[in-house]
Amino acid sequence: ASKLSPNKSTFTGNAFPNDQIYSDKRANATFVILCRNNQLWDTVRSVREIEDRFNNVYHYPYVFLNEVPFTEEFKYRLSSIVSSKAEFGLIPRDHWFQPDWIDEDKAKKSRDKMQSENIIYGGSLSYRNMCRFNSGFFFRHPLMQKYKWYWRIEPDVHFHCDITFDPFRYMEEQNKIYAFTISMVEYEATIPTLWGHVRDFVQKNPQYVAKNNYMGFISDNAGEKYNLCHFWSNFEIANMEFWRGEAYMNFFEYLDSKGGFYYERWGDAPVHSIAAAIFASRDQIHFFDEIGYEHAPYTHCPKERDHWKRGRCSCNPKTNFDFDGVSCLDKYVKFIHT
Ligand code: GDP
Ligand code: MN
Repeated sequence: ASKLSPNKSTFTGNAFPNDQIYSDKRANATFVILCRNNQLWDTVRSVREIEDRFNNVYHYPYVFLNEVPFTEEFKYRLSSIVSSKAEFGLIPRDHWFQPDWIDEDKAKKSRDKMQSENIIYGGSLSYRNMCRFNSGFFFRHPLMQKYKWYWRIEPDVHFHCDITFDPFRYMEEQNKIYAFTISMVEYEATIPTLWGHVRDFVQKNPQYVAKNNYMGFISDNAGEKYNLCHFWSNFEIANMEFWRGEAYMNFFEYLDSKGGFYYERWGDAPVHSIAAAIFASRDQIHFFDEIGYEHAPYTHCPKERDHWKRGRCSCNPKTNFDFDGVSCLDKYVKFIHT
């Protein structure tokens, strides 16, 4: 049997009537994992879980990215446990490090101030590099160029259920652009001026605003203020053509030119989410209830009983974050039904 022919007995259920288990068809897709060498064993655990829960049937490739070269040990361990191809990429200098035109005195003052205010990662420069990279550069990496779809995974996350369908093919067939499992509110102190810049950009570029957009998810007053809701970007399945397209590229360049990735601490999650909510149509954003997922301290555990059973999940549905006080899923649900 070809490597792409899944073993029919591996999974017992079908999440969708048009399930692709018995098909050799694959999307042009990859996993992408940004991580450090010292996260080797946390990365091994995440990959082992997605292999056991999904990829031992589908065999999608992996791209590992790092701003320093991966060690031979890292490459050996990860290559050994995947059921597909693994590639290991070095991030170009100017895709990662703070640009020269950023005023380092000003940036340092902001880091010190946020650190003293105990804002999470407030004092970290590397965290800012990471957020800017994930906002504007990962999809331009030479190893990513050949792919259309990606599934972002981090070290030390958990996949609690069998994924008995192909999320990439689902997204492709349903004309989706962006999918999530957890959404929540952002710390306002990390993005004090972000929304003002978003509004300015949209005012100057009204042609990019999607007709049937998702503004209702990110603003409670028709765009006047940001309600801080965003999709948690440590899990993302999305179409990179959206990020590579004219609207998002101009949006990212505009935001980047304001320096807020360094003068504040803009996260890639609000940047991606705001863009998806404004430049994509709302029916192109998808919530995967079937995918049991945990990134400490939060878990999405399928609430539909048949999703839990079909996925043979290991999570306790009572730990589900979906309707927690800081979750935004209530807005998501309300909004798709209005
Ligand atoms: P959090 O999820 O917001 O708490 O942030 P993480 O520390 O998990 O970082 C997000 C992702 O970026 C993870 O996949 C990390 O492995 C990765 N990451 C964060 N900082 C760095 C860094 O300085 N270098 C590399 N190579 N990866 C990083
Ligand atoms: Mn993380």
